[in-house]
Amino acid sequence: MARDWGDDMYADRIELIFDAGHRLLKYKGECEAPHGHTFKAEIILSSEKLDQTGFMVDFVDLRDKIGGWIDENWDHAFLANEQDEELLDALNLLKEKKIFIFHNQNPTAEVMAKYLYDYVYKLYGNLVSKVRIWESPNQYAEYFKR
Ligand SMILES: [Zn+2]
Repeated sequence: MARDWGDDMYADRIELIFDAGHRLLKYKGECEAPHGHTFKAEIILSSEKLDQTGFMVDFVDLRDKIGGWIDENWDHAFLANEQDEELLDALNLLKEKKIFIFHNQNPTAEVMAKYLYDYVYKLYGNLVSKVRIWESPNQYAEYFKR
């Protein structure tokens, strides 16, 4: 039997896997030393409507754009807090390096989730529902607007 309550909602979701290094400044614990994770970014878009093709967004397009940004900026990069001078000095001694700077923030999964959300929002506007950053198979941070 059809339910006669609630509005239609569709959700599209993609996962993108990438590897990156980081460390957390002014933190006592495992994450104060430089180390890496295989991260997973989950992007969830939602809408009440579909286009004429029957899509909310084209998955190929979504993957190309967001995956392209992640490949270029975060994959195999070292994610660093701009204030972490000791780390940046050390990384700058290396000939080969890929560094992504977060302005005055630690590269935590929460901060990364908001950063990626803001990028996806620029492309898809209000279709963006949530961005999750998985730091390990059993924990993620999520950013969304309520
Ligand atoms: Zn970590």
